[in-house]
Amino acid sequence: MAERTFSIIKPDATQRNLTGKVNAVIEDAGLRIVAQRRIQMSRAQAEKFYEVHKERPFFGELVDFMISAPVVVQVLEGDNAVARYREVMGATNPANAAEGTIRKLYAVSVGENSVHGSDSQENAALEIAQFFKAEEIVG
Ligand code: ADP
Ligand code: MG
Repeated sequence: MAERTFSIIKPDATQRNLTGKVNAVIEDAGLRIVAQRRIQMSRAQAEKFYEVHKERPFFGELVDFMISAPVVVQVLEGDNAVARYREVMGATNPANAAEGTIRKLYAVSVGENSVHGSDSQENAALEIAQFFKAEEIVG
């Protein structure tokens, strides 16, 4: 069933000029980029986005990283898009990521790991709504 997920190309990737290479992996995996915008996240936006992790020891570092340079926010569409994109991204820590995944190919470290992808359909809907209006998503 066609589904949507939310993606972020993180600062480590935009800084190394890898937006197009990441998008090529996404598209080669059969996911369609149906909305996309490059933004500089504010601290408040990053703190809200990662609120679920606010008690984790890496929260401050994560927020600092996410606002250290522009990011590209995206909506991806395809069959089982949430689970499919998690596969395409690879494990959080690139040392554990499978061959051919975005994180294996491009991530620098467990923190600077090039991409975000929603972990459930419910969170995908909430995350998409944080960054896009309905009319900005054209499937
Ligand atoms: P994922 O992005 O794979 O869903 P999590 O939701 O667990 O991973 O973590 C959110 C983000 O927090 C990660 O993508 C990464 O940027 C950062 N992060 C996770 N674990 C660590 C860690 N041990 N040290 C530093 N940063 C981390
Ligand atoms: Mg997560």
